[in-house]
Amino acid sequence: MAQAFDVVVIGAGPGGYIAAVRAAQLGLKTACIEGWRNAKGELALGGTCLNVGCIPSKALLASSEEYEKANGHLEAHGITVSGVKIDVAKMQARKEAIVTKMTKGVEFLFKKNKVAWLQGFGRFVAREGDGYSIEVAGVGAPETVQARHVIVATGSKARQLPGIPVDNVDICDNEGALAFPSVPKRLGVIGAGVIGLELGSVWRRLGAEVTILEALPTFLGACDEAVAKEAWKQFTKLQGLDIRLGVKIGKAASRKSGVAIEYTDDKGAAQKLECDKLVVSSRWTRAASSRRTSIAAPIFRTSTRSATWCGDPCSRTRRRTRASWRPSSSPARSRTSTTRASRGSSTRTRRSRGSARPSSRRRPRASR
Ligand SMILES: Cc1cc2nc3c(=O)[nH]c(=O)nc-3n(C[C@H](O)[C@H](O)[C@H](O)COP(=O)(O)OP(=O)(O)OC[C@H]3O[C@@H](n4cnc5c(N)ncnc54)[C@H](O)[C@@H]3O)c2cc1C
Repeated sequence: MAQAFDVVVIGAGPGGYIAAVRAAQLGLKTACIEGWRNAKGELALGGTCLNVGCIPSKALLASSEEYEKANGHLEAHGITVSGVKIDVAKMQARKEAIVTKMTKGVEFLFKKNKVAWLQGFGRFVAREGDGYSIEVAGVGAPETVQARHVIVATGSKARQLPGIPVDNVDICDNEGALAFPSVPKRLGVIGAGVIGLELGSVWRRLGAEVTILEALPTFLGACDEAVAKEAWKQFTKLQGLDIRLGVKIGKAASRKSGVAIEYTDDKGAAQKLECDKLVVSSRWTRAASSRRTSIAAPIFRTSTRSATWCGDPCSRTRRRTRASWRPSSSPARSRTSTTRASRGSSTRTRRSRGSARPSSRRRPRASR
C-alpha cells in the first residue's frame, strides 16, 4: 500500500526543507522528495543554495577576500606580508567541507523533526480526492505516495543561451565556476547580475583578468540607483572588473587556447573576446518547467488549495526591474522611462524593456 502523508514537499532547497521541517513541527506527517547528487555522486539535501549557490560562493568570496587583503591591502595598515600564495585545491576543500557540513545539517534536521526523505524526483501522476498521487523515481525503485497537501519547491536553474553550450570545462555555469581547479588567466562572464559579479569577484581577487559582458544598458537594474552607482565604482575602479554594458552576445566556441566569444558592443560594432574560461550566468529559469519535474500544469489547474509553490518557482525578484544607474559611457535610455521607473510606475517600464510581463499575467491561475 502506498505511503500517505499530510504534506509532501517536492525539492529540498531552502524553500523546501524549511517548509518540510515547519510542517512536521506543526504535527503534520511530512515527506520531502529530493534527488540532488553532489559532485561526488552522493545524494544531498539543501538544493542550489547549499550545494552550488549561496553557500559555496560565500565560502570562496571569503577566501578570496583574505587573499586580497594579505596581497597588498594590509600595507595601508602598516602590515607587510610577503610571499602570499593561493592554494586553490585547499580553498576548494574548505568550501566543500562547509557545504557538506550544511547539507548534513539539513539531513539531521529532517531526522530530528521526523521528515521522511524520499530519495528521487517527484512527479504528479493523479488527483486523488482532495490530494495527489505522486511518483518518486530516479534513485531507487520508483514508488508512488499519496499527499493531502503538496508544496512545490523545485527551485530554478541557470538558463542556457543559444549558441553557447555549457560543458563545465571551458564554458561553465555556476557549478563549474565554483569548482575551477586553478585561477584562469582570463575569465569571461556573461551577465552582470549578482551571481556574475560574485563569481567574477572571486576569480578577479585571486588574479584573473575578468571581463563581464552584460546585455542591459544599465548596471544592477533591480537595485536602488545610488547603490548601483556605488557598486559600479567598487566593482570597476577598486576591484578591477572590466564590465561592458549594452552588448549583444553572438556565439561562443571552445578552442585549444580557450574560449572565443563574438559580441556586438553598445555602439553596434562587432567585437571578439578571447578568454581561458567563460562563465554563463545570465538568466535563471524555473526548474518546475523542466520535463523531469513535469509538474507545473496540474498544480495550476487544481481548484483546491492543496498544492502550492515556494522558493524560487514563485519568486518574482529575478524578473523585477526598477530604475537603475547607467555609467556615462553606456548607451542612453529614454529619460521618461527612467523617471517613471524611479517613481515606481513599474508596469510600463518593465514592458518598455521587454524584460517582464505585467504582474497579473505572471500570477498562477487556478482552475483553467
Ligand atoms: C552562485 C549563486 C549564489 C547565490 N547567492 C545567493 C545569495 O547570496 N542570497 C540569496 O538569497 N540567493 C542566492 N542565490 C540564489 C539561491 O540559491 C536561490 O534563490 C535558492 O537556492 C532558491 O531556493 P529554492 O528552495 O527555491 O530552490 P533550490 O535551492 O534551487 O532547490 C530546489 C531543489 O529542488 C530539487 N528538485 C527539482 N525538481 C525536483 C523534483 N521533480 N523532485 C524532487 N526534487 C526536485 C532540486 O534538486 C533542488 O535541490 C545564489 C545562487 C547562485 C547560483
